[in-house]
Amino acid sequence: MPEAPQEPHEEEIEEPQLDPELEMRRAAALSLVRRFGDPILKSRATEVDRFDDGLRAQVARMAGLMADALGVGLAAPQVGLAQRLLVYRVGPEAPVIALVNPQVEWTSSERETMEEGCLSIPTVHVDVERPVHVRVRARDEIGEGRLVEASGLEARVIQHELDHLDGVLILDRTSRDQRKEAVRAMREAERAQEAA
Ligand code: ZN
Repeated sequence: MPEAPQEPHEEEIEEPQLDPELEMRRAAALSLVRRFGDPILKSRATEVDRFDDGLRAQVARMAGLMADALGVGLAAPQVGLAQRLLVYRVGPEAPVIALVNPQVEWTSSERETMEEGCLSIPTVHVDVERPVHVRVRARDEIGEGRLVEASGLEARVIQHELDHLDGVLILDRTSRDQRKEAVRAMREAERAQEAA
């Protein structure tokens, strides 16, 4: 977290000195995550209708990728699957939670702006304003109903991942100036990579 270590960043948690093995694992995981510009990130995902072993394998795969990428959340479209499925884990000791077909039931009028990053938009961090509290109804990976009442970081992660299911990215939720600056920085990084 280069800019402000005291602030929890969305999805992406960067550690300044990562051991080489972790770094390799992280790079391998990130290479499987769809990047900004991929059309699947702009599309609306469809409802999951089968709660079978395939779904549970997908949840396990996403949880593994999220852990290796040092992320706190991952949505199915980010791994190329246009389904309404997300996983998140707000702390290293917290359990991984899978939300299938999540629906926002209520959000607080109290809102808060914080900096967010996204595994699909590496190196970019922008300010995003979101409700502080949220109540979401979903199913888990075996099809049981799940009601999540979340606040703070957990609420933010859930809303960030839910956005992915609707083809919405943090760049769509930030100010025009920050969006322009982020796109400029990404182009510059691409050019630097091409030149290298
Ligand atoms: Zn994201």
